[in-house]
Amino acid sequence: MQENPVTIDNLNSLASAGISVHILRIDRVHPVVSGNKWFKLSPYLRQAWQEGAHTIATFGGAYSNHIVAAAFAAREKGLQSIGFIRGEAAGSQPTLEEARSYGMQLRFVERDRYRNKEALVKQHTQPGWHWVPEGGYGLPGAEGAAAIVTSADTQPYSHILCAVGTGTMMAGLVKAAKPDQTVIGIPVLKNPGAAQEMMGLLTAEERNKSFAVVPGYDFGGYAKHPPALLAFMREIWDRQSLPTDIVYTSKMVFAAQDLVKKQYFPPGSRLLLIHSGGLQGNRSLPPHSLPF
Ligand SMILES: *Cc1c(COP(=O)(O)O)cnc(C)c1O
Repeated sequence: MQENPVTIDNLNSLASAGISVHILRIDRVHPVVSGNKWFKLSPYLRQAWQEGAHTIATFGGAYSNHIVAAAFAAREKGLQSIGFIRGEAAGSQPTLEEARSYGMQLRFVERDRYRNKEALVKQHTQPGWHWVPEGGYGLPGAEGAAAIVTSADTQPYSHILCAVGTGTMMAGLVKAAKPDQTVIGIPVLKNPGAAQEMMGLLTAEERNKSFAVVPGYDFGGYAKHPPALLAFMREIWDRQSLPTDIVYTSKMVFAAQDLVKKQYFPPGSRLLLIHSGGLQGNRSLPPHSLPF
């Protein structure tokens, strides 16, 4: 796949005396497989290729960026793809339509059965299939995400902030961070186990590095986007021309602004936010909800 250069932009309107704020735009890495999905998926695709698999099989919800990214990336690699989708097929849904347009075959699985991934894999697997865990959660995904840190000059920053879904990206950032850097993860769903799951991808030594999971910024839970969040997204667009998505990056940028205001960071801190992509998720909003 063609990889576009990523940039680091200044978010001066979030800065305060003694604290600078920048954002790493990995959302620019690819128009479809945007942001962290690009990094997380690549080791799984490499594995599939090495095994001689012909099909990528994976799981996701109806709004899953992972599903779209997996569909597109598989096609680019000349692999077929199949997505097991949580819940019922319900009308047209932009994310799933897009995955289908990249050739992904979709199978809907009722919620109770969806929960037991092991049973699903056992029941459905076929020769030549390579399974990718939901959201790319796993060591290969984290190792792929570690490359985010070397995709640009991230050395000068004291803190790296990211959204946390499965925690795979955060684990990768912790692995790759320098000893004097702190990784801050902002959970975007109500998941009291997020920190544990993230740490499950770290070695004992890596668990002694500097990181924190800071809850309280989920805005009601996964994909919940109350008017206050949409208002913040419009505001940050007006102030900085920064597009954010309703599920992940808006909540993380909001958290960064709030934590700076609350003097969470010591003076002299240089923050680097990770724009992990996901902008296509905004298409589930009614038309003209956002100015970008
Ligand atoms: C999937 C996704 C995340 C979450 O990454 P995890 O590794 O699951 O924590 C964050 N941001 C965006 C834009 C995503 O699409």
